[in-house]
Amino acid sequence: MDVVRLLPDAVANQIAAGEVIQRPASCLKELVENSLDAGATRIEILLLDAGRTLLQVIDNGRGMSDTDTRMAFERHATSKIQEAKDLFTLRTMGFRGEALPSIAAVSHVEITSRREDDEVGTLLEIAGSQVIRQEACQCAVGTNIKVKDLFYNVPARRKFLKTDQTELRNLLTEFYHIALVYPQVQFTLAHNDEILYSLPATNEKQRIEAIFGGATNRTLYTSRFVEVKTETELVNIYGFVGKPEEATKNAQQYFFVNGRYMRHPYFHKAVMTAYAGLLSGETVPSYFLYFTIAPDAIDVNVHPTKTEIKFADEQLIFQILLSVIRESLGKFNISPSLDFNREGEIEMPVLTGDTPISQPKVMVDPNYNPFRPNNATKAPKNWESLYSPPSSHSAPQQELIPDAFLPSLLPEGWKPYQYQEKYILCPSPLGLMAIEQHRAHVVVLYEQYKAMLQHPTFASQQLLFPEVLELTMDDMLVIEPLLDSLKGLGFELDLLGKDAYSISGVPALLGQTNPVKALKDIIYSVRECGATVENGFVHSIALSLAQDTAIPVGQSLTDDQMRDLVEKLIALPHYRLTPDGKTVLTIIDINL
Ligand code: ADP
Ligand code: MG
Repeated sequence: MDVVRLLPDAVANQIAAGEVIQRPASCLKELVENSLDAGATRIEILLLDAGRTLLQVIDNGRGMSDTDTRMAFERHATSKIQEAKDLFTLRTMGFRGEALPSIAAVSHVEITSRREDDEVGTLLEIAGSQVIRQEACQCAVGTNIKVKDLFYNVPARRKFLKTDQTELRNLLTEFYHIALVYPQVQFTLAHNDEILYSLPATNEKQRIEAIFGGATNRTLYTSRFVEVKTETELVNIYGFVGKPEEATKNAQQYFFVNGRYMRHPYFHKAVMTAYAGLLSGETVPSYFLYFTIAPDAIDVNVHPTKTEIKFADEQLIFQILLSVIRESLGKFNISPSLDFNREGEIEMPVLTGDTPISQPKVMVDPNYNPFRPNNATKAPKNWESLYSPPSSHSAPQQELIPDAFLPSLLPEGWKPYQYQEKYILCPSPLGLMAIEQHRAHVVVLYEQYKAMLQHPTFASQQLLFPEVLELTMDDMLVIEPLLDSLKGLGFELDLLGKDAYSISGVPALLGQTNPVKALKDIIYSVRECGATVENGFVHSIALSLAQDTAIPVGQSLTDDQMRDLVEKLIALPHYRLTPDGKTVLTIIDINL
């Protein structure tokens, strides 16, 4: 007896669904891409229970005839390619004709669609690949598709879904990927009857601002970026790359090619190479880069979920990308006068024309600097480990001048000098000591705040006029678990609508610091450290508050203020680096 037979369509579709539709987010992606392929200029997304109960996409695209609506749910039914060669000139998002049949295999679909020239539209209902009904109906031009009870007939898949919070974040990620690259399309996204995003048609920059800038916009999110633009025969690149000093540990990094989000580790390396030497600690820059290239120069087909894309001339594009980013960063002058983030290379030219240049005779390593921590200025892995004393067997004996030794080195009645309202210069027998004033104060305040946070008895100070903290949906998900701790700190917060809090009280220690900024910075640093409330919370809050309240660069200081700051600083057990790994002081060796 022969045993080989064709799988029934319903089964084949379910198998395909396993690849194409893994979670609500992948379903959303397919639906929205279809709307875009249909030329929609307005797309409305309605979600219930992170897409589990309902995932609805309404577009004003070209719609479908009744026959096409039915056909669209057949396997490998697509209007986008007819011949194999079409694969190489694709300008649409979809082309496999797999999405709709896969979705209909694992959910209950209700779709209405109408073309502009048709008097009436069509309504089709399918569940588990079985057509339930199709009839004429009154509906707007475009397509309105409801996907209900996703995975109702695939319990294993349903169990595999994460919490609503996680699935919602996945949905938002997918939404950002699309909304960022179609700024000319108007989008709304609602979850459980709350509108999370309402994005008007605009350009790339404004769209980035609308998604990541939050609602308050005291300072523009996009002001942290410089523009990148180049047009070559091979590729056009447009976009925004973060200013080096705005780099964080957890950045927004996006590549798009021909209207499609892509991951590209090799091009990522090009971006990172352009920033070489400009970043401090473990920070990475944010970027939004849009490539336009002839469709036959890329292969979008290498990965089933299509986020990895192969380019014909990757090495050439790497070079183009690297040089255009370098150039843009260069235009926006990024080199400070004294760069504390590069290994002790303060250059002070003292040679005049008649100074003979002779090879100095040295008995010891002239670059040796007892106060430069081992490797510490280079991307510290873990700042806490840098703060622990060097172990005696790993360091040569002369490097063991302890931090505690420094205070005794300050000469009696020493006189500080402030340079460029940024550095405090003071004498020491080892050489000229230059202390960065803001970082020094961050270190001092960080220790104070940390001590206070460990014994929470916080004075709250009532605000005369409550301030409003407006947040992005992503921020809301981060702040919720922190609310109790923030209250303990002295913040009085009341939920205001779906994405805002009113601030009626703030910790007294905040002083004149803007509480909205302070809270946003806390959210940001908690998120970027991936910190849980238990381990990283105290560190993140103390650091963030210290950064917000420390003396800024550009403030002139009196001799007493400088002496006070320096003495407080060097009285601490660890003071040579800020908690986030930036160099606080450098000594120019007297024997140099
Ligand atoms: P693909 O997008 O790969 O062609 P799909 O299964 O996603 O496959 O869709 C099948 C076909 O259904 C599409 O080729 C398109 O012709 C039609 N279609 C799907 N969604 C829409 C929509 N929102 N508006 C108009 N036509 C659509
Ligand atoms: Mg499609």
